[in-house]
Amino acid sequence: MICKGHEVAGSVIDHETRCAHYHSVLDIIAIKFYCCNSYFPCFQCHEESGCGSPKVWPLERFDDKAILCGSCGHELTISEYLTSDYKCPACNAKFNPGCGLHKELYFEVSHAGRM
Ligand SMILES: [Zn+2]
Ligand SMILES: [Zn+2]
Ligand SMILES: [Zn+2]
Repeated sequence: MICKGHEVAGSVIDHETRCAHYHSVLDIIAIKFYCCNSYFPCFQCHEESGCGSPKVWPLERFDDKAILCGSCGHELTISEYLTSDYKCPACNAKFNPGCGLHKELYFEVSHAGRM
C-alpha cells in the first residue's frame, strides 16, 4: 500500500500505516527494517513477510531516515524518533509510546540508556 507517497509493506489497513495488528488512533508510524530496507507498520508485519534474517539498525546508522509518519508523510531519522517524545516534529501528530517499549526489535539499543 502507498501511504503518503511511500510504499509500506505488510498487512496495512489504511493510509496512515495502521495494520491488522496495531490500529489504535496512535498507531500511525511505519518503521523501515534494516534487513529488508522496506517500511513495515510493525514488527509482526515484518515477521509475516517471511524475512529470513531480521536485523536491527546499528547505532552508527541512527542518522538514516527510518520512521515514516503516517499522518503527514514526514520521514524521521532514528535519532529524531528516539528523542521526539512520541510526536511528529513536522505535524505534531502523536505516536504510540508503546512502540518505544519494544524498540530493541528495530534498533540497536545503547547500554548508555539513551532516550
Ligand atoms: Zn527483514
Ligand atoms: Zn502489523
Ligand atoms: Zn507527521
